Amino acid sequence: MTEEASEIAAWRADLRRWLEANVPAWWQEEFAATPFEVPERRFEDIRAWQRTLFEAGYMALTLPSEYGGQGLTAEHERVRAEELVRAGAPPIVNEVGVKLCVPALLAFGTEEQKQRYVRNILSAREIWCQGYSEPGAGSDLASLQTRAVRDGDAYVVNGTKIWTTYGMQGDWIFCLVRTDPNVRKQAGIGFLLIDMKTPGIDVRPIVNVTTDVDFCQVFFEDVRVPVENMVGHPTQGWEIANHVLAHERGPNLAMLRYGDFLEQIAQRARATTRAGRPLAEDPMFRQRWAQCRIEFEVLKQQVLQAVDEARAGRKAGPASSLLKLQTSEFDQRLSRLANEAQGLASQLWLEDGIDRGIWQWRELWSRAYTIFAGSSEIQRNIIAERILGLPRHAKGGK
Ligand SMILES: Cc1cc2nc3c(=O)[nH]c(=O)nc-3n(C[C@H](O)[C@H](O)[C@H](O)COP(=O)(O)OP(=O)(O)OC[C@H]3O[C@@H](n4cnc5c(N)ncnc54)[C@H](O)[C@@H]3O)c2cc1C
Repeated sequence: MTEEASEIAAWRADLRRWLEANVPAWWQEEFAATPFEVPERRFEDIRAWQRTLFEAGYMALTLPSEYGGQGLTAEHERVRAEELVRAGAPPIVNEVGVKLCVPALLAFGTEEQKQRYVRNILSAREIWCQGYSEPGAGSDLASLQTRAVRDGDAYVVNGTKIWTTYGMQGDWIFCLVRTDPNVRKQAGIGFLLIDMKTPGIDVRPIVNVTTDVDFCQVFFEDVRVPVENMVGHPTQGWEIANHVLAHERGPNLAMLRYGDFLEQIAQRARATTRAGRPLAEDPMFRQRWAQCRIEFEVLKQQVLQAVDEARAGRKAGPASSLLKLQTSEFDQRLSRLANEAQGLASQLWLEDGIDRGIWQWRELWSRAYTIFAGSSEIQRNIIAERILGLPRHAKGGK
């Protein structure tokens, strides 16, 4: 074993011990089947979990220490992801900040902006939300209408953003705003950081299909934002948004946990009867389970390959749409299968259901997965045009 490999092996062993001692028991009991989602009722607990990770030196491994990172390698990052999956650890609560805002700040922000925001994002001291979508601009994001007009040392913001995840808990929001209405729509957009406590902001929660309230509509009326909160040039927002989007759709190693879920589903199907026989003996069910298993193995290889590509510094580009499309649609099929494996008990909700009803909750939640970060139709357009080279569709941004 090389010196580097033995250093990584020792680091892995330390992390594994740390996770065994620190992954909260309540998470494993109640939510182990939600590798990506943060149930609203545990928001503050998961915020504390992210802070614990940060303080133990297990957040932002590859970032330099002056921004709160650890200055470690992409190999450490990969080991960390594998060990978090192995330990069944909770997700982090400030994913929007860590995965989307930090890359934007590091690539386009000033030194002052990096110092001011990055560490607070990593530690979950400040929760961030993403203000892109509007009632009239979702897939066609470049049509956004929220205006930011320069007035002395501030921008005055008017308009509204919708489907803003964590908008109720958010301390800050990064917004795409129209700074110049007189140029091509993509060319007149800025990327603005707004303190959610600024006068003129009104947050109205939206209840989603799982009955959780984890997104909202945000209204801006004459909201004054200091000019130093603009990231990059005032008309560079579209370039920054596209940079962020590649991170949003990137590979997620938490999906490796689907392998365990498939085993749990098989186990449940042995205990459930249909027409007097174990469901696990039903040929149709067996075929669908096997199909999921095959899809999982293929997807796993694609995700690992994408992680290697990212590690080697290669940009994913339109290939990230393939992963987003496949993972989100697979997630829905898997949740459906998990509920079918429960038989009639699948109709019971939360505390009344098997495994505290987490699969019922998850099946409903998984509907969102094919919408956010760009719907499946938009991913198919991107794959058709940019990977397969088919004729370009007239519209479509996000
Ligand atoms: C759970 C959840 C969380 C979200 N969180 C955030 C957030 O934090 N911040 C944020 O800014 N946004 C967020 N969104 C919004 C999300 O990005 C948008 O819902 C998404 O981009 C789709 O936009 P839309 O809802 O306006 O649908 P539309 O764009 O109106 O699309 C409606 C339907 O038409 C289809 N369609 C549209 N254009 C085309 C086309 N060119 N070709 C083929 N079909 C097309 C779509 O696929 C869809 O089926 C979230 C959404 C969800 C569900």
